[in-house]
Parts: sequence; C-alpha cells; structure tokens
Amino acid sequence: IYILAIESSCDDTSAAVLCNDEVLSNVVATQKIHKEYGGVVPELASRAHQQNIVPVVHQALAKANIDKKQLSAIAFTRGPGLMGSLLVGTSFAKSLALGLNIPLIEVNHMQAHLLAHFIADKDNTKPTFPFIGLTISGGHTQIVLVKDYFKMEVLGQTLDDAVGEAFDKSAKILGLPYPGGPLIDKYASDGNAKKYEFPIPKVGELDFSFSGLKTNILYFIQKEVKKDSEFITDNLEDICASIQYTIVKILLLKLKNAIKQTGIKQIAIGGGVSANSGIRKALKDKEKTNQWQTYIPKFEYCTDNAAMIGIVGYLKYQEELFSKQDITANARYRI
Ligand code: ATP
Ligand code: FE
Repeated sequence: IYILAIESSCDDTSAAVLCNDEVLSNVVATQKIHKEYGGVVPELASRAHQQNIVPVVHQALAKANIDKKQLSAIAFTRGPGLMGSLLVGTSFAKSLALGLNIPLIEVNHMQAHLLAHFIADKDNTKPTFPFIGLTISGGHTQIVLVKDYFKMEVLGQTLDDAVGEAFDKSAKILGLPYPGGPLIDKYASDGNAKKYEFPIPKVGELDFSFSGLKTNILYFIQKEVKKDSEFITDNLEDICASIQYTIVKILLLKLKNAIKQTGIKQIAIGGGVSANSGIRKALKDKEKTNQWQTYIPKFEYCTDNAAMIGIVGYLKYQEELFSKQDITANARYRI
C-alpha cells in the first residue's frame, strides 16, 4: 500500500509517502515569514501553503521514487488547525484523490501526533494498548487515554495556553525570536534550574494552565530588569533552565496523576514540545526510578509532519475508513 499524506494545519507545509507503515519520504517546508511578526499570521500561512503545496508534493513523490499512478490513497489533515491553512491541504487532497480515482482519508492532527509512534522504526519499540498519550504542542496540551488506534479519550487538557505557547511566550519576554521554545531548551542546557522558582498552577488533577505562569515570569523579569538592566543577558541560561524545569515539573505531575487514576504506566508523548530535552530526560529518568515505560518519537515525527498523517492513513486504509468527496476541513476537530 502506498499512501501520499498531506499536512497543512498550521505553518508547515508537509507531504510524505509511506509504503505500508514505512516512511519513504517526509518533506517539510517551514514558513519563515512568521518570524518577522513574532507568531503565526493565519492569512500569510495559507498563502504560503498555496505556494508550497505543489513543489512539496512533487518532492515527496520524487524522493520516494514513486509515481502518482502507484498511489493507493491520499491522506490529509482535516483539523484541528487554522481554517485557511487546512483548506489548502484539504482541497488539494480531494482534487488529487478525485483525479487519480483513489480513496481519500481524513486524519485528525492530534490523533496523528500520538499515532506517529506506529511508524516503522527499527530502533524503537511501539506502545501497546492501552497507553497514556501526552500531546504537547504549540496549540494543544492534552492527556489522552489511548484504548485503540481510533478509540481515544481526552482525560485532561489546558484551560488556557498550550505548553508550546508557554515556552514561546516566555522566550518572547526574554527577547528571544519566535518560536522561542527550542532556544529556551538550548540555553537551559548550560543553566542552573534551581536558581529561580516559579509557582505551579493549581487546577484540576489532569488539567493544565500556563497563562498564570507566563504572567509570573513576566512580572519577575520586569522587576529584576528594573533593578539591573543587564539582568536577562547576565542570567539567560539560569532563567531558561528555571522556566524549563518548572514546565517539565508540571507535565510530570500531571502524568503522575494520570497513572494514579488509570493504573496505566505506559506513556507515549507527541507534539512539537516532545523535542524538548528536559522532558525527554525526565521521562527516561522515570523509566529507571518509577518503572514507567516511555515512548518518544523520532525528532522529525514530533513537530508537524506529514509522515504521522500517513501512518494514520495506512491504519485507516486497512479498516477501509475512507472519506467522501463532500468532506470539509474542521478547525476545531476534536479527538
Ligand atoms: P498543534 O499541533 O497543536 O496544532 P503546532 O502544530 O503549532 O500545534 P508543533 O509543530 O507540534 O505545534 O510544535 C511547535 C511548538 O513546539 C512550538 O511552540 C515550539 O516552540 C515548541 N518546541 C519545539 N521544539 C522545542 C523544544 N526543544 N523545547 C521546547 N519547545 C519546543
Ligand atoms: Fe502539531
């Protein structure tokens, strides 16, 4: 089975070709334009998708050495995401499936972040059902009970900002460019994580809240900068390490609660923030100390990519879960 997958939910245009559960190509065009604005501008994102989609699909087919006539189905991200961005991928996928007269398969982006674990990978073992999924990305923060490929239940989620936003907004306060998450991670590696303490938000056992933390960080920085204008530059590593430490502590606390509630000790993470070295290390430590079994996807399958859409396409193809031509994008598509 050859699946062509298309992802265009936010600011990355991506196309992938899979042969069964194996990735033959996974091309991602990241949009640079948003850097100038310090965040994703929806209208610019959809225009860039329109420019990128044809070359990205061509590249994915060429890299996989597959002709479009060999394709078995087209999978695409239906949502959640930015409506204008989703429409580009959705319309493209529908037209191509119609033209080639092959099945069309819609995919939920958040399910795909978790099902990325089922991409064939000789270095990694796959989680078994049921497991706890933790999706940590730029737009979402969810704890999901994954009972089967398509039987998922959201147990808890953020009440305000997503964890990726917490990273990015903290970075912005520190004057770092967008997206600042990876930069906080980079500076944190040389810093003292215990230097500054930020409070842990008090919300439901399995829910998250990050907007208060952001405000705390903002007030703290403003106060210190007033006393010493060089405060940020002189302490950047320690500030980043302390912020990252707090965020990782929150994530671990919620996972601990989820394990206590469900009795399930298998944790699979997904979403762009899974790339964070603090959370990766903390999870590996928990394997040793608390006997958790943790699963972390390869870096390229953590941030937005079409390969994860392709694996869901393959899983749905086997169940003949095909979509009709009248399907539309859904910006608020729930798991
Ligand atoms: P969603 O999947 O909810 O639609 P998205 O597509 O914007 O959101 P992803 O591409 O999955 O999100 O993740 C992007 C986020 O991941 C950004 O907020 C970015 O700062 C964050 N991120 C990426 N790498 C790191 C890292 N090493 N440390 C912390 N955050 C990171
Ligand atoms: Fe995503």
